[in-house]
Amino acid sequence: MAYITPRSSRGMRFRVRCWGARGTMPSPGPHTVRYGGHTSCLEVRAADDTLLVLDAGTGLRSLGQKLGPDEITHLFLSHQHSDHVIGLPHFAPLMRDVGVLATAGAVASEARDLDVSAAPLPFGPRVFLTSGTASRGEVHALLDTLLSPPLFPPIGAVIERVGVQAFNDGAPAEVTSQLFVHRFPARHPGDAAILRIDDTHGAAIAYAPDNELDYASTDADVIAWRRGLTLALHGVPVLIHDAMYTEAELPRHHGWGHSSAIEATRFAMECVAGLLVLFHHHPDRSDEAMDALVQECRQLVALSGSSLRVIAAWEGLSLTV
Ligand SMILES: [Zn+2]
Ligand SMILES: [Zn+2]
Repeated sequence: MAYITPRSSRGMRFRVRCWGARGTMPSPGPHTVRYGGHTSCLEVRAADDTLLVLDAGTGLRSLGQKLGPDEITHLFLSHQHSDHVIGLPHFAPLMRDVGVLATAGAVASEARDLDVSAAPLPFGPRVFLTSGTASRGEVHALLDTLLSPPLFPPIGAVIERVGVQAFNDGAPAEVTSQLFVHRFPARHPGDAAILRIDDTHGAAIAYAPDNELDYASTDADVIAWRRGLTLALHGVPVLIHDAMYTEAELPRHHGWGHSSAIEATRFAMECVAGLLVLFHHHPDRSDEAMDALVQECRQLVALSGSSLRVIAAWEGLSLTV
């Protein structure tokens, strides 16, 4: 497998694989073959193979299919919008050993006559779920909604397979003694978190899938917020950032909670990031339009005399940090 390695790499700290890079809605079809149509999901492997998953968009289903039965997943949500959580009910580690039992005399096609059961857990939860913006109670309520009728068959035991956790105010989530996830507030309707993954060397990966940088704003609060974020992400080797819009589309979407690819590039240069990975692509953006967007961003980098590298995430992208 070919890995892309940022210039600032100092030995392999993390492997990242993209399982979904699309924003808002899945968008399969002939125009999105290369970048893919699945919504947000990234697999992040630490050097000791600890598995972090960032967001549970539709890409989560394919990731789940390749995980071993004993694998423990530390799943972090940037927020609870549907494109970031809709893969959860189809995540194989939750659904293993779920049986569908037709009740006596029932016609199998009649959903109301099906009794769906999950085998008891032999070892406790295998999936630990943390949201960057929600309390434990709110995450439990979300799971309840996603995994219960009328959205889903009644498989109550599946919810018990998830260990719900929460950030403590002002403290990072400690995944292992050498692996931490920090969160920072994004500008996004209903709130979203920006996640920064650190190991013992410091910051390695920043993930900001839904974030309105809003360089057009003259509001002092916005400018101060962006300045604070620049400092929090300073020198990060890999920045994965919202790049939903073109410059032409941006003015019509003020307040929608997303950035343009050019804004993401400007921000990445201000952060002195090593590699910018454009992410959360607009569902209408074709492969050709994505290529053009990447070129535009690279031109800005060249004009600015920066050493930033820019790519756009595609399904199957693998990179090392
Ligand atoms: Zn989104
Ligand atoms: Zn969102």
